[in-house]
Amino acid sequence: MQYGFYINSAKCTGCKTCQVSCKDEKDTDIGTKFRRVYEYGGGSWQQTNGLWQNNTFAYYLSISCNHCEEPTCVHGCPTGAMHKRKEDGLVVVDQDVCVGCRYCEMRCPYGAPQFDHQKRVMSKCDGCYERVSQGLKPVCVDSCPQRALEFDDINVLREKYGNERDIAPLPNSSLTKPNIVINTHAHAKCSGDTIGRILNPEEI
Ligand code: SF4
Ligand code: SF4
Repeated sequence: MQYGFYINSAKCTGCKTCQVSCKDEKDTDIGTKFRRVYEYGGGSWQQTNGLWQNNTFAYYLSISCNHCEEPTCVHGCPTGAMHKRKEDGLVVVDQDVCVGCRYCEMRCPYGAPQFDHQKRVMSKCDGCYERVSQGLKPVCVDSCPQRALEFDDINVLREKYGNERDIAPLPNSSLTKPNIVINTHAHAKCSGDTIGRILNPEEI
């Protein structure tokens, strides 16, 4: 059994309710973001034969930990604190075992592990496994006003929505095999795109 997230970028309005509800549920410090909403865009207005044409684009992508199939965070953890749960595939950190070396943070290409500056250990999205064990969904999923997020067995999500994961600004999925499925925005660019840029770096 492996849980994963479905992210409907075509529906997402970038309101960040998911990010805020997660902060509220997990009671995290200012600056700690288990879920981050990327604003990705680029392009420009261009003049051709005296006429201005709009080539700009922008879209949103709400990302937390992807509870990857090949979690580089887990492989790099020297104490075993960062681990993948056998029962549901969620990647969680045992703060009693973590020594705060931050190797997992350096190795994750998604910026998911978040250092807890008060406790001096790592923290991260745990897929709200306690809520899930009570039959609830993660709080980000339940709070999204656009219903742009879903959480389920990744095989069920892939059957419903396909297997797209390689969307900018995310890295190529071959690195860690993330358990996510993305419904792409009409203007989406592929991973590795160099036309666009992250428009809200201070928010992620
Ligand atoms: S709450 Fe939903 S619509 Fe708002 S940013 Fe998050 S995913 Fe997008
Ligand atoms: S997204 Fe990062 S922290 Fe989460 S499982 Fe993958 S490598 Fe680990």
